[in-house]
Amino acid sequence: MILVFLGPPASGKGTQARLLALERDLLQISTGDLLRDAVKRETPIGAKAKTFMETGQLVPDEIVIGVFADALAVGVREGHSGFVLDGFPRTVPQAEALDATLAKLGRVLAAAVDFRVPREVLVRRAVGRRVCSNGACQATYHLDTNPPRMEGRCDVCGHELAQREDDLPQTVEKRLVEYERKTAPLLTYYEKKKKLQKLDADRPIDDITTDLVERVERLVPTR
Ligand code: AMP
Repeated sequence: MILVFLGPPASGKGTQARLLALERDLLQISTGDLLRDAVKRETPIGAKAKTFMETGQLVPDEIVIGVFADALAVGVREGHSGFVLDGFPRTVPQAEALDATLAKLGRVLAAAVDFRVPREVLVRRAVGRRVCSNGACQATYHLDTNPPRMEGRCDVCGHELAQREDDLPQTVEKRLVEYERKTAPLLTYYEKKKKLQKLDADRPIDDITTDLVERVERLVPTR
């Protein structure tokens, strides 16, 4: 089972990818998390990606495609067969690269899920988002809708919560423009391939997870 999660920034792709991966024993590959980790560790890839990320732009295709291909290769080597791709692809060339990779592996994409959320909700969500600063945890919270039990502290591991630099209001606006310009064309790309599934992602977290699990059951009957 290989799923792509599409959707604008703060549409909940990462949260749901994590939950679905746990529920269905899939490997979550988040290019955003991988790139943030590279920036933190000051690797050569991190150095190239940093400015793009901080200013709300997409990282160039050749860099991201490499990061994704490496993560997928590691996953396959470790014996994973199910993947949820969270935030990749985000451009048509990336989608074409994914198609080529899957063809080489003899695999097909099960579905591309479009997380649909009204624009004003996205801005509110991004600006209120807080993430655990512990790289191994990365739990996410929202000041209004999903606050931590203790202010500023992660419920899971107790580390301090932080705001992502690209969640500042002016950067969120830029990311939304990038999304419309470069990522939204993927909706037509996957629609033409009859892989697109639209998901109302302006609902409580648990409702969306239940919906996704049901869709996955329908894609792969387990009984
Ligand atoms: P995310 O955590 O998915 O919101 O990604 C954070 C940032 O990482 C994005 O705003 C981009 O700068 C970069 N990024 C993540 N995935 C991709 C991708 N597939 N293509 C280009 N840039 C990406």
